[in-house]
Amino acid sequence: MKPSLLDFTLKELTSLVKPSFRAKQIYGWLYHKYATDFDDMKNIPKTLKEELSEKFIVNPMKIINKEISIDGTIKYLLELQDGKTVEAVWLKMKDTQYDENGEVIQEAKYTICVSTQVGCKVGCVFCLTAKGGFTRNLTAGEIVAQVVNLKKDNNHKHNRMINIVYMGMGEPLDNLENLAHAIEIFKEDEGLCISGKRQTVSTSGLSNKIDRLGEMDLGVHIAISLHAVDDKLRSELIPMNKAHNINSIIEAVKRFPIDTRKRVMFEYLVIKGKNDDLSSAKKLVKLLNDIKAKVNLIYFNPYPDTPYERPEKKDMVAFQEYLINHGLLCTIRDSKGMDISAACGQLKEKNV
Ligand code: SAH
Ligand code: SF4
Repeated sequence: MKPSLLDFTLKELTSLVKPSFRAKQIYGWLYHKYATDFDDMKNIPKTLKEELSEKFIVNPMKIINKEISIDGTIKYLLELQDGKTVEAVWLKMKDTQYDENGEVIQEAKYTICVSTQVGCKVGCVFCLTAKGGFTRNLTAGEIVAQVVNLKKDNNHKHNRMINIVYMGMGEPLDNLENLAHAIEIFKEDEGLCISGKRQTVSTSGLSNKIDRLGEMDLGVHIAISLHAVDDKLRSELIPMNKAHNINSIIEAVKRFPIDTRKRVMFEYLVIKGKNDDLSSAKKLVKLLNDIKAKVNLIYFNPYPDTPYERPEKKDMVAFQEYLINHGLLCTIRDSKGMDISAACGQLKEKNV
């Protein structure tokens, strides 16, 4: 597999391309014009393009399928150079706002949910991605390519802002080096210019890697997939909890550098009869006591053959009210793209 031009920060590309001002031009083609082929790069000399094409490809992924939900969510299936596939999701977070004359006052806001691995090693029992096992890590360029390809497909200009959530297939912190590299590439001023603040890494809780990510000081947000308030249930749901228990995660979060105006998001997957009772809510309040936290309750999305059930709405609401009444910020995630299985935990490798 040849590396792709999306694998490099501008500095790295500058050290590969002579004369160096060409690197900036190439960056413009990649991130402002979304070039997918060397032929697209009009002002780059043919000899340089030939030289580069011996070692690199331009874009390591192509869109092979697309499903559009009634709520505007679009789920993409992308094929990698080795024929493996991953999914990425285009989420509309806010509609376009118009004034009384029909003029746009605020453009619609979007978030892209990206994958970091083909499959996942963590093996959470409630997650469909886990069912296929682990195949391989994505390279930095393959992580970057998801955003470039989805922006291109939606005619989303390079300078229109976008948020990125690392909540697709895979455990981002199990692929930390490539993840960190991709975060840096997204941040490039000459590229997509997506600051750390607009990027959220969701993790099942590899506590030592939360510390490593914190030390890298990339300015990103973290979201912790907590899902349970005691280690017994959490180990049942997330086998890896035996090595990284709840306490080790909470301690790592406390050490994580966080923008003082922001809160750490804790995701809590609610499963009927398992963790939807108020005594769990009470323990959750205690657990997050001295953390600036916000909780996002997620309805368990069932899939065929799962022993778990979706919780009742009234229990969700009661859980949320308990947290709010005890001083925690708490939202219930409205699952987008339910009709096309693009919702949390429903991403899988093959388009079957
Ligand atoms: N591996 C990372 C990021 C990808 S999963 C992590 O686990 O955090 C993104 C989110 O989807 C996680 O919070 C995960 O717990 C949730 N999820 C997985 N399966 C789900 C399901 N069946 N229903 C609802 N949410 C699910
Ligand atoms: Fe992996 Fe996240 Fe799914 Fe768990 S929930 S198996 S960590 S992708």
